[in-house]
Amino acid sequence: MSETRRPAGTAVPVRTKDGSYEVLVQSGVLADLARLVADRVRAARFAVISDSNVAPTHGHAVMEECREAGLDASLFTFPAGEASKTRKSWSILTDELLDSGYGRDACVIAVGGGVTTDLAGFVAATFLRGIPVVQVPTSYLAMIDASVGGKTGVDVHAGKNLVGAFHAPSLVVADPEVLATLPIEERAQGLVEAFKHGAILDAEYFASLEEGVADLMAADATAAEPAVLRSVELKAAVVTEDEFEGGYRQILNFGHTLGHALEAASKYALGHGTAVAIGMLMETRLGESMGVTETGTYERLKVALEGLLGPLEEVALEPEAAVQFLRTDKKVRGGTPRVVLLKRLGEVDEGDRWSHAVDEGVLAEALAAGLEVV
Ligand code: NAD
Repeated sequence: MSETRRPAGTAVPVRTKDGSYEVLVQSGVLADLARLVADRVRAARFAVISDSNVAPTHGHAVMEECREAGLDASLFTFPAGEASKTRKSWSILTDELLDSGYGRDACVIAVGGGVTTDLAGFVAATFLRGIPVVQVPTSYLAMIDASVGGKTGVDVHAGKNLVGAFHAPSLVVADPEVLATLPIEERAQGLVEAFKHGAILDAEYFASLEEGVADLMAADATAAEPAVLRSVELKAAVVTEDEFEGGYRQILNFGHTLGHALEAASKYALGHGTAVAIGMLMETRLGESMGVTETGTYERLKVALEGLLGPLEEVALEPEAAVQFLRTDKKVRGGTPRVVLLKRLGEVDEGDRWSHAVDEGVLAEALAAGLEVV
């Protein structure tokens, strides 16, 4: 990616087929949220949606701030956790909004991690056929990944994120200061995606993450702000080029083909970040063995990811179950399994439209090899 970096505090534009929206990344920007929302969204009523962990602090603060600025705002909550990202929660929240008399002139303000981004975004996407949503991400993962790109949805019995809609936000406001309350484990899990952004698009950024990992884990806003901003810039550039995942956007799936399989095989006991980190490593080793990825990439990636997550060889994996999941997933989503491979750190191999079709047997071997030194 050759484009220049923006100074902290500036807006990152994301273009969509219907126009564009801005992602604001700045420490302390939440104090200005009501004015930003009033300036950019034409709505008469605001539904602040937060999970049960975030609602008492950041969700409530956003609602109060909106009210003080003269906006008609109320807070709606749901139980925290991935288990809430369901059609049931979607219908409960939708009914609550309808029962409270919300109409087409309403706007959702989603304050929370990626579960809130997806669930509240899906409520907004479907409420009276679609009302605006402002995303206020509060976890690293939501800031650098979930809130940018317009994907919303819920999990269903057949798999995660299988029901949903593209619904671009009207505005995204990311204030790194809120990361101070994010549990340590969630910080590490979310930062895996930042390392992924560096690995696929920007070697210099990757190196800055390696160096700054301790400060990022401490949620030091002076370290978090430039990292969140760079990840947002990188993701925004990708989704601007390919809004609906026709080709180039697939590069964001680096580590996810095998990572998802491992995560599902563990019945989601394995954190998403850890699963993706191991997926990135397995896919990189596969790339090296296929002669696609520069030798030595695996080692560097492994040291960096272990610096973030601790020793990964010790993580209990269920490769056989993961192979089964790859098969089921293939049936659900159709086609041959595809894997995104690096050319070198900071660059993805173009392959066939940015990914490689890899035989199931080869993927099974990659999974079976685990992360032990071979
Ligand atoms: P999450 O929303 O469950 O947040 C993780 C935990 O941290 C929760 O317990 C939450 O209550 C808590 N939390 C969040 N912010 C906090 C804060 N500032 N202070 C205290 N606690 C806080 O999960 P996540 O890891 O943020 O996101 C994972 C979800 O994001 C998954 O459902 C995934 O599918 C989705 N996702 C979506 C996209 C997309 O493009 N739409 C991309 C990546 C991930």
